[in-house]
Amino acid sequence: MLPISALSALLAATLSLELANAHGVHNARAHHDIAKRQTTAVALAASTSSSAASAAATTSSAAASGASGATTAAPSGTSAATTAAAVSGTGSYNVPPLSAINSAMPSGATPTLSTTFSPGAQPTYSGAPVIPAKFIFSSADWPALDRIPPTDSDQVKEWMKELDGHDIPDITPTVDGECASDPQAAAQAQQRGWWTCGGWTSGNDIVACPEKNTWGVSFDDGPAPYSEKLLKYLDDHDLSATFFVVGSRVVSYPDILIAEYMAGHEISVHTWSHHPLTAMTNEQIVAELGWTRHAIQTVLGVTPTTMRPPFGDIDNRVRAISNAMGLRPIIWTTGPGGPFDTNDWRVPAGEHTGTESFATFESILGNASTMDTGFIVLEHDLFEITVDLAVGYTLDAALTHNPPFKLESIGECLSIPMNDMYHETATTDIVGANSTSDSTSSNSTSGSSSAASGNGATGLRLPSSAFVGVAAAAVAAVFAGSL
Ligand SMILES: [Zn+2]
Repeated sequence: MLPISALSALLAATLSLELANAHGVHNARAHHDIAKRQTTAVALAASTSSSAASAAATTSSAAASGASGATTAAPSGTSAATTAAAVSGTGSYNVPPLSAINSAMPSGATPTLSTTFSPGAQPTYSGAPVIPAKFIFSSADWPALDRIPPTDSDQVKEWMKELDGHDIPDITPTVDGECASDPQAAAQAQQRGWWTCGGWTSGNDIVACPEKNTWGVSFDDGPAPYSEKLLKYLDDHDLSATFFVVGSRVVSYPDILIAEYMAGHEISVHTWSHHPLTAMTNEQIVAELGWTRHAIQTVLGVTPTTMRPPFGDIDNRVRAISNAMGLRPIIWTTGPGGPFDTNDWRVPAGEHTGTESFATFESILGNASTMDTGFIVLEHDLFEITVDLAVGYTLDAALTHNPPFKLESIGECLSIPMNDMYHETATTDIVGANSTSDSTSSNSTSGSSSAASGNGATGLRLPSSAFVGVAAAAVAAVFAGSL
């Protein structure tokens, strides 16, 4: 496969040039322009690799099935031992020293799945259906990868009926999901309940774990080749996490999704193409959520009851559509220092070093320990770099923190039984689709309104995250076609 770090470096180099051209001014416009150009790159990558998509999926499956019997002995490692080993770069997880984690990092070996599951395999939670017939990707069955799906398909027309009887607010789509691009929408951010622009949430959104010092662990944008490294760590440490998966990755790496699910982790919807939802029409939002839901159901046999909007970009219209489709929104916590975003995605983009991202994470832990509730943090399993940061550093830091943190999946921390995380097995409706338009409130568990401001100290986050999400999709699209 084409080394992902090489692609990351390429994208990072492009970004550096663009920033230099912008005279180092990190303004929204500059980032927006970069994002637009990268969108073109995504389209090109998608079009050049679309014919290879099924081959990619097939190759991935073959590689995965060829990995049976490759199970390695679980390391005995305590957290401390794991950290020490990781720093040397020779530990069980083969994580480089923190100082070596950056966009120029050479790519390590692609992990192979230690365990694969055949159709008919039985998940362990109550009432779970068995794993369906083996998923074979056929491009005729799915929208183009990493692009907003068309809205004139029979499937989308059918899914649109799910909105019938629901009060979907008549809110004009934003320009591009960014605060700075849309002053008119920004001025109405509170009425719109626009998280991106002020941290506004609804009472139905999940934004934290209730119990103090509890971290609801989650990873976004996979499944991807390096997710397996993360799965091994989580298994070795008996931890569960929530994976917010992108539909385009699900159909590319079905066996990795099955491995996540069968290991007892939660699977949640993170859209088909990973574009900002507030900028889309109702039909496009339905298409993004519907196709991802369908992809997960086809591979696993179950349909999630939760979703996470890319970039956290949600407003009352997106919220109402999500809830009407049986998907309850989950965002990351806004705490005393701002949104709990580790900035791990900035490292493959060349914007931050691994050392900087880990320092961000340590300050999040410090802020989290002052809160009365638990918390949820944004991390990713799309890139080797972000997986290495989690496996080598952030998870260990939380496990060895004083005071200690309890690490759980988001459903676990909310005491939601696994069966209620999926529609086919639910005995309780956790979505509450008719209670979605309740009053909007600020997403600030610290009680500080400034902490929730997307335009304040964290203003850079918005355009940058939009860019990197697109860049990530570009890389994903490229390597999806290269495996
Ligand atoms: Zn994402």
